[in-house]
Amino acid sequence: MVAGWGPSVDEPRVIYVLGAGRSGSTILGLLLGQGAGTLFAGELFAAPLHIAQQQRPCSCGSDPCAFWSEVMDRLAPIDGEAHARAGRHRDLLRALWGPARTTYMGHSVALLDALAEVSGCTTIIDSSKYAARAVWLRRGLGDRLRVVYLQRSPEGLIRSHSQRHATEQRGMSLRRLVVYDAVVSLSARLARHRLDPVQLSYEDLLEAPGAVIQRVAGQLELDPEPLISALNGPLVVGHLVTANRLRNDPQVRLRTRPEVAPLSGRERLAAAAMRAFRGALA
Ligand SMILES: [Zn+2]
Repeated sequence: MVAGWGPSVDEPRVIYVLGAGRSGSTILGLLLGQGAGTLFAGELFAAPLHIAQQQRPCSCGSDPCAFWSEVMDRLAPIDGEAHARAGRHRDLLRALWGPARTTYMGHSVALLDALAEVSGCTTIIDSSKYAARAVWLRRGLGDRLRVVYLQRSPEGLIRSHSQRHATEQRGMSLRRLVVYDAVVSLSARLARHRLDPVQLSYEDLLEAPGAVIQRVAGQLELDPEPLISALNGPLVVGHLVTANRLRNDPQVRLRTRPEVAPLSGRERLAAAAMRAFRGALA
């Protein structure tokens, strides 16, 4: 953060979670959002689309949700589909070196500002995960943006994608996951000098949640105390219209001892390939 400058409702700070899908970004966003003045708003790239299509009710249970209605009322009309399409992986090179997407950046910053105004919070957490969106936000917000790069082990990602949840889309095939992980890792590497992210391993978070949250809170200039206290109990979810199924769990908490299923030979090979590619980028 710039010296002598503090976040305010008029100029909120934004914490952006970068990484692959199913890396634990929802639980991390929830954890970081437990302090006063901080709002975890989910995957904001897709929020206008979900609200326009009314696909999913807000996690608060109200339909329509008064909070999101007030946020959207403050904004010029947004083409939710175009907004959700922009800022994805294929947009990265333009985000890094091309001409500005002024409409996209304007809508993105206006949405963040409206969330701060309506919630009264000075820090907004966006778990959209795409590196390109983070770079657009950097261009629009400058030093008001802080980025956390959350990485889950290849084995953890493979296990997560092999699970099926009744309310979620199926995970990717193993081959697709290897390519996807390479794209995510390469994008994060290309954008690293722009984003200067705080690095966080999901496995480290599970292993030593108190110590990891203490470190990350310090790097992000968040008060660690309410975040560490929240590790013991169910987390306050608030108003999420995106992010994964955890948002509908009234007792959501960090599961520090997940079941570890053994990997097949093919899965171990895929994990080794993912690890090698990540290592080559480091
Ligand atoms: Zn709501």
